[in-house]
Amino acid sequence: VPSRFEKSDEGIWNKSTALKLKYPCTDLSQGFPNYLINESMVKMLQDVAKSENNVLHQYTRSSGHVRLVNALGVLYSTLLNRKLNALTEIMVTVGAYEALYCAINGNIEIGDEVIVIEPAFDCYEPMVHVAGGIIRHIPLRKVCNSLHKSKETNPLTESSADWKLNENELRNLFNENTKMIVINTPMNPIGKVFTKEELTIIAELCIKYDVICVSDEVYEWMVYEPAKHVKIATLPGMWDRTITIGTAGKSFSVTGWKCGWAYAPSSLINNMRVIHMQNVYSCITPVQEAVARGTEKEIERLNSPDCIFNVSKKELQSKRDYFIQLLMGSGFHPIIPEGGYFIIADWTNLS
Ligand code: PMP
Ligand code: GLN
Repeated sequence: VPSRFEKSDEGIWNKSTALKLKYPCTDLSQGFPNYLINESMVKMLQDVAKSENNVLHQYTRSSGHVRLVNALGVLYSTLLNRKLNALTEIMVTVGAYEALYCAINGNIEIGDEVIVIEPAFDCYEPMVHVAGGIIRHIPLRKVCNSLHKSKETNPLTESSADWKLNENELRNLFNENTKMIVINTPMNPIGKVFTKEELTIIAELCIKYDVICVSDEVYEWMVYEPAKHVKIATLPGMWDRTITIGTAGKSFSVTGWKCGWAYAPSSLINNMRVIHMQNVYSCITPVQEAVARGTEKEIERLNSPDCIFNVSKKELQSKRDYFIQLLMGSGFHPIIPEGGYFIIADWTNLS
């Protein structure tokens, strides 16, 4: 076993799948929607699959099907308020997983330090190990209970906004060996949505120590009132050092399509391409074509309540509220997530 794999184990999802087969239970750990939010996406994939246009059934451009990178270029140019070059600053990947893998493996040297904020999505740490990097963890810490201040809310409830980075602890972690920080907003699994103020502190440190920021924003559309999604790439000086990651899996509720992407300055995308080209070369053409058509449709109605990105946010917010009540009624102590589709709940009262 190569020494850089020694710290890798079988992975949390393999473990939880094995437990699921052993005990009769409902698995809420894998975030896939159990109802079809987006019939029009399925219809688009059907149309592409039935198309007699041969080009749609053959290999497409390695860094991303042109129609898809163009559509993503329009979407993210609007959201970032800067004109993206679709051909050089965007790359399509096999889900956000592959984007993370390419971002980490393509941009760090063996021995570089990578900061990861806990509780973290499971794959960041093993990906850094495989790349020969050194993980530096920093936990969120509970600082206050903002919901206690409100009379109407149950005093037992707590929000992901109560969990913050300690600024001094973060400052002490950055040093001349730090190459990268991975942030995740909305954050899986706690549901924290980083505020502009919190991101500004991270940004200042990234600039001071010349650090690359990988911003995993797969839940960018699942942000519940009053939280607001802020892209760290839009903060002053951050575009030049940020790789932002998204996925159709979450945006369109089609996790099985495994169609993700990254956007960043071309120098960082070029490093990612080296890994991508020698690994998968190109992603599935019909899926990319369907996601492109879906994205074009949503761009046209981005500010309308009918836009699928706005619909899924609304539906999930009421599901979240319903599920929180169920958990509390059953003796759990949940942390109310401001975004994403997971909930962390303390079950010590039940044991
Ligand atoms: N990042 C986070 C935070 C996620 O929750 C997920 C999906 N579980 C991914 C990345 C991977 O996304 P994809 O399914 O598009 O590979
Ligand atoms: N819990 C993960 C998610 O957010 C599952 C990822 C996986 O299946 N590897 O969907």
